[in-house]
Amino acid sequence: MNIAFYGATERVTGSCHIVHAAGRTLLLDCGLVQGSDADEALNRKPFPFDPSSIDAVILSHGHIDHSGRIPLLVKQGFSGPVYAQLATRDLCGVLLLDSAVLSERDALYRQKHPHSDSDRHAEPLYTREDAVVALNVFKGLPYGEQHEIFSGVKVRFRDAGHILGSALVELWLQEGEVEKKLVFSGDLGQYGSPVLNDPETVETADAVLIESTYGDRVHRKLEGTIAEIGELISVARRDGGNIVIPAFAVGRSQELLYLFAEHYEAWGMKNWQVFLDSPMAIEASSIYWNHPELFDAQAAVYRNNPTSLPPLHNLHFTPRVEQSQAINAIHSGAIIIAGSGMCNGGRILHHLKHNIHRSECHILFTGYQAEGTLGRAIVDGARDVTLQGRKYSVAAHVHTIGGLSAHGDREDMLRWAGGFKGSPEFFVVHGDPPAKRSFRDLLQERLGVRVSIPAPGDIYSFGL
Ligand SMILES: [Zn+2]
Repeated sequence: MNIAFYGATERVTGSCHIVHAAGRTLLLDCGLVQGSDADEALNRKPFPFDPSSIDAVILSHGHIDHSGRIPLLVKQGFSGPVYAQLATRDLCGVLLLDSAVLSERDALYRQKHPHSDSDRHAEPLYTREDAVVALNVFKGLPYGEQHEIFSGVKVRFRDAGHILGSALVELWLQEGEVEKKLVFSGDLGQYGSPVLNDPETVETADAVLIESTYGDRVHRKLEGTIAEIGELISVARRDGGNIVIPAFAVGRSQELLYLFAEHYEAWGMKNWQVFLDSPMAIEASSIYWNHPELFDAQAAVYRNNPTSLPPLHNLHFTPRVEQSQAINAIHSGAIIIAGSGMCNGGRILHHLKHNIHRSECHILFTGYQAEGTLGRAIVDGARDVTLQGRKYSVAAHVHTIGGLSAHGDREDMLRWAGGFKGSPEFFVVHGDPPAKRSFRDLLQERLGVRVSIPAPGDIYSFGL
């Protein structure tokens, strides 16, 4: 029995680990590397294993840095099932198709504006057809049920509280008389975050793979974040312009709508028109609403008893391009949520064009902005920005709200890790190197457990 670490070892994205046990080869996640062009070029490198040798993929959640290479794996010979929580399967129906569309568009652009010979022959990483073929091998499992997927291999998903359908993976692996239990945290959510449940406690494991995205940081408390958003909305109301919110389509957009509804009176939401201007966020929202069984107790009460939550009367979904363009004519009183979350493409660009140079407008960032993106430049205080070939001065007020992260902070992760009885061995993955080292030290200090930081390609035996 062993585990080999292939992805998300020296960075946050590209989650991918292989478990060999009971004569089977299992892939935990199969994610895209995201970041600079050089980072993303890694996605085109051959897999460091033969895709046809994999018996099954076990997917922690829908985010593309965990799921995005599955169509490629299938295209290159993987013919087994992909096990995912039911809502993850639904979300992948949106996310993998979108990933294929972006890749097709990028290949076409490079063919039309080539910088090199390879651009002239650019191919998408995978196409929409490839994504559809891959989606057909997904098998949805609910939380909390143990399934024997092969003789000697049992799996159970528990709620990770990160995005809808996100799972902690429990794996029981049997060889002869020996049974060992491996737990994979996937991405862990924040305790007490809106809409979703807290990460479930798991009490037993021999080995634990744990993420460490915010292993060296503590988030602002949610109450403080809510007060901050309320204050910002009232200031923006006085200033008389619009509020533009670049947001990720899955998770953040739904949380924002939920908070707007929950604080409808207190935040004076009746004074605003709210636009969810992202076809993908609209689809993801309908998947969220179709899975109320996965909401936390507070959100479930609202869902079951609509009178207890003021509905967002002034919410507009604008999937069509002409509906989106019509928003440009509104100069005051609009809250516009659009993608991409880091402003490196999508409809958010045309909303920035119409609002960023106006001092009465506000731009609200609610998520991580990677180095090199337009969103990062704005957050870092750029005086002017180039949007679709034209320069605009930045006069709007720019805000960053940190407390809505879908990832728990180091205290959340320690709390979850502290739920294990006994002393499992921990493997820290999915974090930038300083975050991983800092989190390893904390785990050792506070829990007194054995902790390793695997390097890419490292293989650890367990159960021998
Ligand atoms: Zn994630």
